[in-house]
Amino acid sequence: MGNAPAIAFITLGCPKNEVDSDRMRASVVASEYRFAADLDDADVVVLNTCGFITDAVEESVGAALELAEWRDERPGRRLVVAGCMVSRYGDDLAAAMPEVDAFVPVTDEPALLGVLQHLTGVSPGAAAPPGTRTGGGVSEYLQVSDGCFRACAYCTIPVIRGPYRSRSLEALTSEATGLLSAGARELVLIGQDTSSWGRDLADSRDITDVLRALAPLDGLAWLRLMYVQPDTITRQLIETMATLEPVRHYLDMPLQHASARVLRDMYRSGSGDSFLGLIERLRDAMPDIVLRSTFIAGYPGESEAEFEELLDFIGQAGLDYVGIFPYSPEEGTDAAGLPGQIPEAERFERANRVREVADEVSIARTARLIGTTLDVLSEGEDPDGVSIGRWSGQAPEVDGYVMLDRPVEPGRIAAVRIDTSYGYDLEGEVLA
Ligand code: SF4
Repeated sequence: MGNAPAIAFITLGCPKNEVDSDRMRASVVASEYRFAADLDDADVVVLNTCGFITDAVEESVGAALELAEWRDERPGRRLVVAGCMVSRYGDDLAAAMPEVDAFVPVTDEPALLGVLQHLTGVSPGAAAPPGTRTGGGVSEYLQVSDGCFRACAYCTIPVIRGPYRSRSLEALTSEATGLLSAGARELVLIGQDTSSWGRDLADSRDITDVLRALAPLDGLAWLRLMYVQPDTITRQLIETMATLEPVRHYLDMPLQHASARVLRDMYRSGSGDSFLGLIERLRDAMPDIVLRSTFIAGYPGESEAEFEELLDFIGQAGLDYVGIFPYSPEEGTDAAGLPGQIPEAERFERANRVREVADEVSIARTARLIGTTLDVLSEGEDPDGVSIGRWSGQAPEVDGYVMLDRPVEPGRIAAVRIDTSYGYDLEGEVLA
C-alpha cells in the first residue's frame, strides 16, 4: 500500500461507544498508520457497532453491508466490524457476514493495531499508552467504569460489556487532564451505571471521590453526571453535587417505570412514590436542578392501569428531559420469556402517549427560561453555520441547544439573555 495505511472510524450507538472509538482512533494516531477523517481517503474502515436492542443490531448490520460495497469499490480496502454487536453475537456473526474482513469484540478493541497489521501487512510501530484519547472537543465524555453488576430483566448489556469494572482514580485523572489540555471545558461522566463507581474496588470509595478528584483540574468549567441509577443517589452524593463546583446541578437518572410491580418484574427497585420523594430531596438541595430520565413503555404484563400510573408519574414529576423506549423483546433476556407480551403496535402506541405527556412538560419547562440570563458554553457553529452552545441544564447531543445571535469562540462561556424557545432549543442574545 506504499505509504502507511489510512484508517477511518464510523461509530454507532451511545456515548460509551464514542469513547471506545476515540481510544481506538488515538491508538491509530499514535502509530505508524494514518487517521482518515474522510472515508474516501481510507484503506481500512472500522465500524464500531451497537447491539443492545434489535433495532440497533439491524442498523449495525445495514451499515456493515453498505461499507462492504465501499470495500469492493477499490482493491485492497478492508472492513473491520467492532463493538457491542460483535460481543453479543460472537462467531455467529462471522458465519453470517463473510463480507467483513475482521471482527473485534469490545474486550479486544485495545488490540486493534494487531488486527490492522494482520489485514494490511504493515507494522503499526509503537502503541499509545492504554486509555489515550484524541479529545479536542469543547465537551468530552469520561467513562468511569465498564460493564454492569445489575441484571435488569430486559437488558443485554451485562452479556455484552461484562461485569462491573471501575477505572482507577489515577487513570481517570490522567485521562481527564489530557482531555482538558486538548481543549475540553466540560467533562461528562458516563458508564452503564456511573454512580456505582468504586463498588468493586478494595478501598471504600465512591463516585463522590471521583467528583472531588476531578473538580480542581485546570480548565474544567463544567462536570456532569449521566447514567446515575436512582438507588445509588445517596445523601452524600446530593450534598457533593449541591456544594462542589464545577459539578452541574444536572442529573440523568434512568427510572424505567413508575409501577412498583412492573419495576419488580424488571428486577429493579423503587416506585412512583419513592421516585417522587427522591426528586423532592434533589430539588430541596438544588432548587435549580435539571433532571433527565428514561422509561420503557409496553413492558410484558403492563396493564392499562399500570401504564396510566406511568403517564401520571410523568405528568407529576416535572422532568426536564425524557427518553422513552417501546419495550424491545431481546433474545437471551428473562423479560423475553415473560407472559403477557404486548403486541408491537400497542408498545409503540403507548410509547407515543408517554412522549406526548413528557414533551408537554419539557417544552413548558424550557419556555420558563425565556427572559432569564444563562451561562452558555459555546460549541462554535453547527453544520448550518448557526452559532450554538448549551446552558448548564443541557447535556451534549440529547437536550437541545442555545442558538446565539453572534459567534462566540468555542469553549468560552458567555452570558446569554434568552429571548425565545423552540421545543428543547433556546435562542438568545450574547451579553458578554
Ligand atoms: S443498569 Fe442499565 S446497563 Fe445495567 S442491566 Fe440495568 S439497564 Fe442494563
